[in-house]
Amino acid sequence: MPIFEYQCRNCGKSCELLIRSGAQPVCPDCGGIALDKRVSLPAAAGKSAAIIRAARSQAKREGHFSNYSAADRAKIR
Ligand SMILES: [Zn+2]
Repeated sequence: MPIFEYQCRNCGKSCELLIRSGAQPVCPDCGGIALDKRVSLPAAAGKSAAIIRAARSQAKREGHFSNYSAADRAKIR
């Protein structure tokens, strides 16, 4: 699994997360999912917002635990 660095739009902290393909990253500090992936070329804001919405609705549809906080996900795993 790749490790990506994210910055949380909610609390402003950055963190490195292991993300499975298609999984929604969750801030380990506040549980927020509005995370910006920090890569060499930043994605356009509108594009990443659309990706977040798509990932969120997909997670809801599939009923997996991407909507839970990081602490809850650790218990589930
Ligand atoms: Zn956060």
